[in-house]
Amino acid sequence: MILATTVNDVKEQVKVWRALGLSVGLVPTMGYLHEGHQSLIKRAVEENDRVVVSVFVNPIQFAPNEDLESYPRDLDADCRLCQETGAAMVFHPEPSEMYAEDFTTFVDMTGVTKELCGKSRPTHFRGVCTVVNKLFNIVTPDRAYFGQKDAQQLAVIRRMVRDLNMNLEIVGCPIIREADGLAKSSRNTYLSDEERKAALVLSKAIFAGEKLIKDGEQDGEKVLAAMREIIEAEPLARIDYVEMVKWDSIEIYHRADVPVLVAIAVYIGKTRLIDNFIAE
Ligand code: AMP
Repeated sequence: MILATTVNDVKEQVKVWRALGLSVGLVPTMGYLHEGHQSLIKRAVEENDRVVVSVFVNPIQFAPNEDLESYPRDLDADCRLCQETGAAMVFHPEPSEMYAEDFTTFVDMTGVTKELCGKSRPTHFRGVCTVVNKLFNIVTPDRAYFGQKDAQQLAVIRRMVRDLNMNLEIVGCPIIREADGLAKSSRNTYLSDEERKAALVLSKAIFAGEKLIKDGEQDGEKVLAAMREIIEAEPLARIDYVEMVKWDSIEIYHRADVPVLVAIAVYIGKTRLIDNFIAE
């Protein structure tokens, strides 16, 4: 497996693959890889001749008060996981390789970025869209893989690709969970033992909401109230949002009679965790 740190090295290698007529898949990540990321890489390896995994903690998607500095990093372990899973290349650039000092071009969106995480983190998706756009231009993949764990991000990227006529397919992959239900996340490492237990309210609320809709409840207010009650019973939990939106447009919509995304963001102590389900 190749470890590339410069844009030029990636472009040169992709050129070689293209000359051989090989297809290329891309899995963008911020590293500290776990089985959630690995499921994306596996799927990409199944569907493409060569797979590039980017490992880049993208500074411009973090607000000044967020966890850019403390975000967990372990490149050696990430490379081992990528190699074992069949990736052909890890792309791990320094921030200065991606952003020149006089970098001034951003990809911004409206609408789909207005609610949920876009509301709590107003500059987040501009950073995500910009870096994903750059990665698409550097790797020129046939397919790129994103987890439903970050459901709004998946919707945002799909919309960006459609709106800007980008030449690739976006593949969404299901949420991978710990045995007890907690969605796998690099940020779970921030949790103390006590917080780890408390964090189970997220998946409990998600499963309860999902079951209510499956059993026929269409009233979004009732579903959201039941979910809030579960989370509020946990003293270490503080709700950022518990919301229901249309899955394609991410507009607030409180009736489960069209495909809806029910998404939550909850602070457990200082750690902000997200989870969701889609009811179609
Ligand atoms: P991150 O490194 O957190 O930026 O995540 C990189 C990619 O992996 C994103 O597309 C995430 O949605 C996806 N991902 C992260 N955690 C999970 C999970 N538990 N299940 C499925 N996909 C995930």
